[in-house]
Amino acid sequence: MRRTAALIAGGGPAGSAAAIRLAHNGARPLLIERTRETGDALCGGFLSWRTLQSLELLGLSADALGGHAVSRVRVFAEGRATEAHLPAPAIGLSRRRLDSLMLAAAARAGAGIERGTSISSAAAGSVALADGADIACDSLFLATGKHDCRGLPRPRPATDDPALGLRLRLPASPQLAKRVGDAIELHLFRGGYAGLVLQEDGSGNLCLAVRKSLLTESGGDAWHLLKTLASASPAFAGRMACADSSATINAIGSVPYGWRATAGVAGLFRLGDQAAVIPSLAGEGMGIAIASGMRSADAWLKQGPAAAIAFQRDLARRTAAPVRLASWLRNAAETRWSRRMAPALIGHMPRLLAWVAHHTRIES
Ligand SMILES: Cc1cc2nc3c(=O)[nH]c(=O)nc-3n(C[C@H](O)[C@H](O)[C@H](O)COP(=O)(O)OP(=O)(O)OC[C@H]3O[C@@H](n4cnc5c(N)ncnc54)[C@H](O)[C@@H]3O)c2cc1C
Repeated sequence: MRRTAALIAGGGPAGSAAAIRLAHNGARPLLIERTRETGDALCGGFLSWRTLQSLELLGLSADALGGHAVSRVRVFAEGRATEAHLPAPAIGLSRRRLDSLMLAAAARAGAGIERGTSISSAAAGSVALADGADIACDSLFLATGKHDCRGLPRPRPATDDPALGLRLRLPASPQLAKRVGDAIELHLFRGGYAGLVLQEDGSGNLCLAVRKSLLTESGGDAWHLLKTLASASPAFAGRMACADSSATINAIGSVPYGWRATAGVAGLFRLGDQAAVIPSLAGEGMGIAIASGMRSADAWLKQGPAAAIAFQRDLARRTAAPVRLASWLRNAAETRWSRRMAPALIGHMPRLLAWVAHHTRIES
C-alpha cells in the first residue's frame, strides 16, 4: 500500500489552497482530484475582496486571476431595485479559470497531483480509490466540497424542502455588458434568489439557489422555472433575453446550507464545504474554502496530524458568525415583507450593507 504524510481529497479551492500552502512550506502533499480536466463547477463565481486577499497570500494576485471587475451590488425584489457600492473591489471569475490557476500553482509549488481517479471511500488514516488501490496517510485533508465521501458523510439537513443550485451561462453580448456592468446582481423572489455576475470573458454566470418545491411547481423543468421568474420581473426578463435557449442548465441537489463541522478527529482536517456551508447569497463559500485550506496547512505544519482537533474547533468558531448571519439573511429573504424592505434599506442605509458584507466574511 502506498503511504503519504498528507493526502488531500479534492482539487477545488479548499484542496488546492491547502496543497499550495503545504508545498510552499516544504511539505510534499499528494492531492487526488477525480476529474481529468478542470470543468466549470456550479458556483456563482463571485470572488469577494476577502477571498482576493487570501488568494494574494497564496501568490495569486487579482491581476493574475484576470477576472471581471465588480464594484457594486444591485438588488431586485418585488418590483423594486437599488444598488450600492461594495466595501472593496471584487471580481467575477469562472470556476474553470480559478480551479485551473490554483491547481497549476499547487503543482508548481511541488505538490503531487493525481487526476482522473476518485476516492471511493475514506477514513482518518486511509483512502480507497475507485481503481481499487488504497493509500495510507498520516493526515487526510477532506476537500471533496459538495460531494460527500463514503465513510465520512455530512449529516443531511432535516428538511423536506432542501436547497438546490442551478446555473445557466449567458453568452457575452453588448446588451448583457450594458445591463450588468460592474455589478453583482441579486434577484430575490419567493423560494430563493438568482445571482448574476460577468466573468473574465464577458459571459454571464446566472446562478440560482432555490427551494426544491419551487422547481417542483415548474414540473421539475428548470427552463420553465426561469421563464416563470422572468414573467414576474421585467428586470429578470431583461437578463433572460440575453440567454441562449438551447443552453444547458446545470443543477446540484440538497445543498446543506448552514452546516458546520464542530468536532474534529486527529489526522482528519475537514476543509471548505466539508467544514462549513455558508448560504451562497453571501458570496463567501470560496473565501471560507481557501481560508480553511490555508489554516489547516499552517496547523499541520506546526503540529502534524494532532493539530486537526484544535483546527476544526477553531474553524467552527471562525465560521459561526458569518454562517449564522448569512443563514438569517437567507431566511429573511423568504418573507415577502423582507423582500419588499430590502431595496429601500440598502438604498437608505449603505452602512448597513457594509456591516453585513463585513460580517459575512471569514478572516483571510
Ligand atoms: C448555487 C451556488 C452559488 C454559489 N456562489 C458562490 C459565489 O458566488 N461565491 C462564493 O465564494 N461561493 C459561492 N458558492 C459556494 C462555493 O461554490 C463553495 O463554497 C466552494 O466551491 C467550496 O469549495 P471546495 O473546495 O470546498 O469544494 P468544491 O469546489 O466542490 O471542490 C471539490 C473538488 O473535489 C473533487 N472531488 C469531489 N469528490 C471527490 C472524490 N470522491 N475524489 C476525488 N475528488 C473529488 C471535485 O471534483 C472538486 O474538484 C456557491 C454555491 C452554490 C451552491
